[in-house]
Amino acid sequence: MSSTPQTPAQPVTTLATQASADLFERARTVTPGGVNSPVRAFNAVGGTPRFIRSAKGAWLTDVDGNDYVDLICSWGPMLLGHAHPEVQAAVADAVARGTSYGTPTVPEVELAEEMVARTPVEKIRFVSSGTEATMSAIRLARGFTGRDVVVKFAGCYHGHVDALLASAGSGLATFAVPGTPGVPASSTELTLVLPYNDRQAVLDVFAEHGSRIACVITEAAAGNMGVVPPEPGFNQFLAQTCRENGALFVSDEVMTGFRASKEGQWGLDGKVEGWVPDLVTFGKVMGGGFPAAAFGGRADVMASLSPEGPVYQAGTLSGNPVATTAGLTTLRLATDEVYAHIGSAADVIKTAASEALTAAGVTHTVQSTGTMFSVFFCEGPVKDFADASRTDSAAYKAFFHSMLDSGVYLPPSAYEAWFLSSAHDDRAVQHVLDALPAAARAAAAAGQDA
Ligand SMILES: *Cc1c(COP(=O)(O)O)cnc(C)c1O
Repeated sequence: MSSTPQTPAQPVTTLATQASADLFERARTVTPGGVNSPVRAFNAVGGTPRFIRSAKGAWLTDVDGNDYVDLICSWGPMLLGHAHPEVQAAVADAVARGTSYGTPTVPEVELAEEMVARTPVEKIRFVSSGTEATMSAIRLARGFTGRDVVVKFAGCYHGHVDALLASAGSGLATFAVPGTPGVPASSTELTLVLPYNDRQAVLDVFAEHGSRIACVITEAAAGNMGVVPPEPGFNQFLAQTCRENGALFVSDEVMTGFRASKEGQWGLDGKVEGWVPDLVTFGKVMGGGFPAAAFGGRADVMASLSPEGPVYQAGTLSGNPVATTAGLTTLRLATDEVYAHIGSAADVIKTAASEALTAAGVTHTVQSTGTMFSVFFCEGPVKDFADASRTDSAAYKAFFHSMLDSGVYLPPSAYEAWFLSSAHDDRAVQHVLDALPAAARAAAAAGQDA
């Protein structure tokens, strides 16, 4: 080993980034890694994260004064773009009436009604993060069924719930091992992790552990390993298999809800095929950029929740009037036209990205569900986590930094969806298109194919 430690090469940038670099230094002094959620730190792509000072519509402005077309959209929530005037006005009104009372309020009832109207859930409980939503849904599923085992899929992310931060054990149908230090084995020993889209694996665990399985939880369409849609009929198969075995089917729509379509992923499969999940979790878009999330489902299952039933669950800021006002205003503005616009902007960007990568000779595949999509830097189709893991992260890293340098803020990880909003107009989309060819060439020069 060399005695001089190698510092990783910093990506070259032509933009001014000193103010971000200085803030990152300050942040690292007082916050682990300088960030409050790991992927913001650019660890997967190298370099210094940009500190954003303000945002408007499709654009972010950083503290050095650089503008970027935003393809993160706060990791999904900003369906209408940043600082939407009607959402801002509604929030300002709500703030003027006080920000939290710890009593029931009007907007939480209205938001619950709006969500019940659009989705298969009959009753809903608000929480403050997607993590809380999935944690509570699992507790409820266990309480309702009187069973203890939870089945999940590798590559599906459900927030940082102990029992769900698990990777597959040494074989299929064996109990999981913790995916991170700090999670005791006892927290994951009731979790079974299966390959996504694998029906036989599901049948096998039910054959072996059926009478102990409280629920199967899945992302309604996987979006946290890049976009990996369920194979046709897969969610219906899960719903049916759960019902036949007395388990609950928990569909995690924290990312896809009010994003993949007006009715989430369920609008693309369950509604068409005629089935409903027992429980659904929500977050991201429904909070309109504020910390709000929810879980809901069958009225008889939800009736087990306190204070109606025995399963305890609570939250000081749950259903917060400012957050629920932002969510309600956002959903009311999220019309068919909004989804049509996002869908066509996504089509233009998908096609152009694929053309640019093909022209540069970069192996890739584009996958989508509804208006959500991502670009994998590997051969397709990607149908599970093992496939997604083949992505060429060196190629993505070069692609990401070239795009960033051209004023396009992509997610700083190869395993993420690219998010658009109704504010991504022709100018913003054209800015992305103009940046793609150089980024594709950079990916070609850096990738495994090079
Ligand atoms: C983002 C996400 C979560 C976690 O939500 P947080 O608000 O970050 O806790 C859970 N499930 C899915 C599918 C998500 O995309």
